[in-house]
Amino acid sequence: MLALKGVVAGYGGFDILHGVDLEVRRGEIVAIVGPNGSGKSTVFKAIYGLIKVRLGEVSFEHQNVTSMQPQDLLRAGIAMVPQLSTIFPSMSVYENLELGMYLVRDKARVKRRINEILDLFPRLAERRGQYAGTLSGGERRALEVGRSLMLNPRMILMDEPSVGLSPILTKNMFEKLRELRTVAGITFLLIEQNARSALELADRGYVIQRGVVSHTGTGLALLGDDEVRRSFLGG
Ligand code: ADP
Ligand code: MG
Repeated sequence: MLALKGVVAGYGGFDILHGVDLEVRRGEIVAIVGPNGSGKSTVFKAIYGLIKVRLGEVSFEHQNVTSMQPQDLLRAGIAMVPQLSTIFPSMSVYENLELGMYLVRDKARVKRRINEILDLFPRLAERRGQYAGTLSGGERRALEVGRSLMLNPRMILMDEPSVGLSPILTKNMFEKLRELRTVAGITFLLIEQNARSALELADRGYVIQRGVVSHTGTGLALLGDDEVRRSFLGG
């Protein structure tokens, strides 16, 4: 569904990614793990047209989308939830969801879609009129996921979905992603600090170190790999 071939990219003429190969098949949950500063978020920025891909190619559903603009990728069916929160605390839950469809003028259609999303997130439905600033960390992250679903993406890129969440909320978040895969057919590419839980959740994983893929395999295979365990999973 998504493929990166030999992607070289970075900032201000300085390469951070040195030829990244990666693919995601329809219906998979794929996790990218690796040390801080290894280039994980940079991979997303390269996919999402936020930095220039200097060499190599990104394709989505057999279409070349290399360096395509974010709004065009969104229309093509890929949404991204960035690492830092993009929730507007002084707007309501409902208004934050509306922003996920700012490209759409048809208010009735927007309203219908918001109600569909709220059906998927009962805790947000109860709080639809509240300021988003009053939500807990887990609810805010859920709101971001909900907003990214507004335009019916087929794939979601999520940078650190569990950031700032307790272990129990992380578990809930991961269960929600599995549920969305089942009920809405969404394919996920995730970046996670929390390598062990991410590889337990994921069908497949990629370990990124110093801007290249150092290991790849099923989540289970990576969890059982001695070198991966020693370097990232605490033995
Ligand atoms: P990760 O997500 O794996 O923690 P990043 O992809 O954010 O790592 O960062 C990889 C490297 O790129 C780091 O050395 C970081 O300092 C550098 N970097 C990240 N963002 C920028 C930027 N906007 N400008 C310059 N360098 C950056
Ligand atoms: Mg990052």
